[in-house]
Amino acid sequence: MLRRIVFAAALALALAGATGAYADQARTAQYFDAIAASPPLRTAFLRAMPKGGELHVHLTGAIYAENYIRWAVEDGLCVQRAAPALVAPPCDPAQGTEPAAILDTDRALRNAVIDSLSMRNHSDTRDSGHDHFFATFGKFNAPARLRFGDMIAEYAARLAAENTFYLEVMASPGMNEARALGAQAGWSEDWDALRTRLLTPAMDNLVTLTRKAVDDAEARKNAILRCGTPQADAGCKVTVRYLAQVIRTFPREQVFAEILFATLQIKSDPRVVGLNLVAPEDDPISLRDYTAQMRMVGFLTDTGRASNVALHAGEVVMGLVPPEDLRFHIRQAVELAGAKRIGHGTGIAWEDDAAGLMTQMAQRNVLVEINPTSSEQILGVKGKDHPFPVYRRMGVPVMLSTDDPGVSRIDLSHEYQRIARDYGLGYRDLKTLARNALEYAFTPGASLWAGGQRVGPCAADSPAGTPSAACRAFLDGSEKAREQWRLEAAFARFEATPWPAP
Ligand SMILES: [Zn+2]
Repeated sequence: MLRRIVFAAALALALAGATGAYADQARTAQYFDAIAASPPLRTAFLRAMPKGGELHVHLTGAIYAENYIRWAVEDGLCVQRAAPALVAPPCDPAQGTEPAAILDTDRALRNAVIDSLSMRNHSDTRDSGHDHFFATFGKFNAPARLRFGDMIAEYAARLAAENTFYLEVMASPGMNEARALGAQAGWSEDWDALRTRLLTPAMDNLVTLTRKAVDDAEARKNAILRCGTPQADAGCKVTVRYLAQVIRTFPREQVFAEILFATLQIKSDPRVVGLNLVAPEDDPISLRDYTAQMRMVGFLTDTGRASNVALHAGEVVMGLVPPEDLRFHIRQAVELAGAKRIGHGTGIAWEDDAAGLMTQMAQRNVLVEINPTSSEQILGVKGKDHPFPVYRRMGVPVMLSTDDPGVSRIDLSHEYQRIARDYGLGYRDLKTLARNALEYAFTPGASLWAGGQRVGPCAADSPAGTPSAACRAFLDGSEKAREQWRLEAAFARFEATPWPAP
């Protein structure tokens, strides 16, 4: 009898907690609707709103040009005046380069460098958005090479300032060396033999060195953010995971070695949770080798079963490439390579049997990482022309990410703002996008969620309170559920904000 009373009391408490939470959520949603006409109020709201995680961001593209300039000055690099760029020393005025320190006093050149390293003040009459965007990467490569840890610190701190605490960042440590091993090994149509040929002590050594490079970068990040001290930056609380970034615009034997190296990193370092293929999808080599590269990924990852695969696919549109190249990229990324996540997916409408493909993606739970500003700047696609609402209608899971926020001069909140404005999304829709970021993250462990409901030992617990013993045990056993629980707790705090009456 006593047990039944205790149970009833607990149930009543849980329901009361839930009712309070629903009321807070409804009030928050109402406030968000009420401020629809005010971009400044929406910006402030969305900066504070927990956004779950960032799954599609390139580390070097995340950095603002101002920081690259500061590092170039500190590291004694050079600036190139014509076609402004930061380059490695020695500086030689006869070759048009001089010490980057001049950027502290020459404001005109400083401004020209910032514009050149980003989309700030970009004009289509000078060069296309696509070309200017992709050209920036070569212009900050020199400072980026020396500042792996600094770059992680910058982006982790920025995400934390936006109340977001999970990051999967694409980075390429060791990839140049992996390509060299691939060039040495040469090509073979016998991929088993080719893999064996590449599994050398030199490759093992590269995996070890790269793991050490990540250790060093994290130590540097922790030092910059003063982690573990009373002055620790909130960025210390960001879980940082890595996606091994394969650069796809190289000869096939080199790309094969890169993909193999990525899978070895994933096996050897739990911080590396998956791989992705990057660089322009419309590059002549990307187009020529597209199917071969998808088969390589499928072969080396057991179609995504042995290693997590996320792929840029469908970052092409009518006019950029011949129509024949628009017909199969997303499908092959899913079917041949085993991608669990598709980056961009902008060109879905031109795929053969687009509806069938989207149905398959919905059934297989293949998520699309939507990068609204990047799509506009690179491909010129936005608003009604973007397939974001089509994916949602077809039941394909989606989340929002930034791609290259330093190049685009944006942040994650900006992308939430933009998508809410362009497609009339409400607060609950945005919560789903934020939750998707963690549901589809490559963190291991069971999820808190199934079919849109919280399930399992934490189902009745209030994220605002202390988890029950059973819930605690579940969270201890699942990295994914821990991140999700942290997000739900952040939502509870956020929704308890005393919003002014609309
Ligand atoms: Zn990207």
